[in-house]
Amino acid sequence: MRIGHGYDAHRFESGRPLVIGGVTIPHSHGLAAHSDGDVLIHALCDALLGAIGEGDIGRHFPDSSDEFAGIDSRILLRRVVKRVVTAGYRLGNADVTVIAQAPRMAKHIPAMVERLAADLEVDAGRLNIKATTTEGMGFAGREEGIAVHVVVVLLAAS
Ligand SMILES: [Zn+2]
Repeated sequence: MRIGHGYDAHRFESGRPLVIGGVTIPHSHGLAAHSDGDVLIHALCDALLGAIGEGDIGRHFPDSSDEFAGIDSRILLRRVVKRVVTAGYRLGNADVTVIAQAPRMAKHIPAMVERLAADLEVDAGRLNIKATTTEGMGFAGREEGIAVHVVVVLLAAS
């Protein structure tokens, strides 16, 4: 069994779509990034790569590379899942916490779970996504950006 943790945060920027967990959410701002800015998927990829001891998302998909400019982060996630399989593991479960004062995530979470479970090649019951505000405190509370924490457990593929 292997455990992994991932954390990511991105700044809000106007004039960009807001993509969280593979779902485009109507909002006044998107997230600044070299990729599509999907902060949830980035944290999830880091947790998976951490669990198999393969560094982080920046090592595998450098933001200096044109190949990854504006890329759909689900493509990155599917590549990371391949590395997990190659390393001889499968996802036991993943627990995700999105920290955002706005917009509200709740009604979008079922669609996130459906899409990411497909990318992870697991039943939806292995993926939990929840969201919290910080009651106005800190950068998330001031609506400067969004942060995500992810913990995963990988099991040896049998
Ligand atoms: Zn990121």
